[in-house]
Amino acid sequence: MSETGVQSAAIHERAHEAMQDAHLQGAYRSSTLRLYNHRLTAIGEVPGFEPLRQRGRELKREVMDHLDEYLAQFADNVERQGGKVHWARTGEEACTVVLELVRKAGAQEVVKGKSMVGEEIELNHALEAANIRAVESDLGELIVQLSGERPAHIVAPAMHKTRHDVSDLFRDKLHSEPTEDPERLTAIARGALREMFAKAGVGMSGANFAVAETGSIVTIENEGNIRFCSTAPRVHIALVGIEKIIPRLSDLGVFLRLLGRSGTGQKLTSYTSILTGPRRAGEDGPDEMHVVMIDNGRIATLADEKMREMLYCIRCGACLNACPVYRKIGGHAYGWVYSGPIGALVTPQLAGLGPARELPFASSLCGACREVCPVKINIPDMLLYLRGQVQERFPSARPANSPVSERRGMRLWAWTMKRPWAFALGGAMARWGSGFLSRSDAEGGRRWITKFPFFPFSNWTDGRDFPAPDPAPFRERWKRMSE
Ligand code: SF4
Repeated sequence: MSETGVQSAAIHERAHEAMQDAHLQGAYRSSTLRLYNHRLTAIGEVPGFEPLRQRGRELKREVMDHLDEYLAQFADNVERQGGKVHWARTGEEACTVVLELVRKAGAQEVVKGKSMVGEEIELNHALEAANIRAVESDLGELIVQLSGERPAHIVAPAMHKTRHDVSDLFRDKLHSEPTEDPERLTAIARGALREMFAKAGVGMSGANFAVAETGSIVTIENEGNIRFCSTAPRVHIALVGIEKIIPRLSDLGVFLRLLGRSGTGQKLTSYTSILTGPRRAGEDGPDEMHVVMIDNGRIATLADEKMREMLYCIRCGACLNACPVYRKIGGHAYGWVYSGPIGALVTPQLAGLGPARELPFASSLCGACREVCPVKINIPDMLLYLRGQVQERFPSARPANSPVSERRGMRLWAWTMKRPWAFALGGAMARWGSGFLSRSDAEGGRRWITKFPFFPFSNWTDGRDFPAPDPAPFRERWKRMSE
């Protein structure tokens, strides 16, 4: 069973460990680059991808501006279709609701489709504590469950494992023959799950979208297991974060096109299921359908104007694949279920800024996340906002890797930036000093400082050259241009 609670304080130790692990580095590098490149190819094939992103963003804004109305409409329509809606303010409340439903169904075994919100509320721990056996049916989720780990990526939970790792894991836990053939590995997992599918009285899933207009939940996947979990057992329980609402069924096309291409570079994932109520006479499907709507910090985020955009996220994982920090330190370093740039926002919002205060600093603020986000979430701006919040609320708790010299340097920089005369004087001194330290490059154009003789700048030139300041400061050139 994986660890519980937020472990973000250990991000520096975990990041260092990850960066020393050549095996892990190889796994993350190849998987993130593969997904990143697939996305680039896929969006290049769609004329008008930018307007599509804009449309997705506008729809999300519309939902957040009227979330109360859309939630009420969704709940009415679920009940009209014969389903039952349950509301949970916290993760514990959601787990309690689920446990009651499972007990009422008389089930000892539950099969689960991939659900990040299920990981967020630590449902597997709650089920295990109640002696209910829960088995993950998604291959990636099954791998992390058998390893006792958390997902390493929103879309690909076992991204950190190579085929060799999975073969070893299945040999240990499922007593299978070693193989690195992906099809064989999938067949081994299927064999182990088949029996569970037949026995489980309750199937659980998350939801990628919840359609207010029809009361449907929408799940997308590549393996077909979620479809099985939501239709084969007698009772289906769907866990849905309240931000998953979309207004109309006709809006679904926008999000499906954005999500598949941004996440895995697919035009559409292999299975898209639209589930509207339990089965009717003459149909296949569950006798009961329960939808657990989970707040767990989302309403507080909605009320925070600086952060509400975080709720636009459709969990495609593109920002993780693009992030130079995630690619190096991997998902587990972030210490909770959500990782990467979006995890650095979601964890402080949902689990509290205190235990997650290091995360907003785990970013180079390069903007790659914003560039790839299908709903254009301004992640860097929100990370900066959260950094400000950390400084205000925890003034003595600096990020552990911020040395005194850096903090003093930043204070001096802030002081200088507020005083034009000091900024001009500093610039003049830097230009004068760089005249002695810099050399022209091979083409004789730009000048570079290859070695700073003093700390802390010498740290920079240990690894790369530093561009010498231009002899004519920008302010002078701007003045000339404006004349
Ligand atoms: S923040 Fe944007 S890119 Fe990142 S997972 Fe969410 S939707 Fe995808």
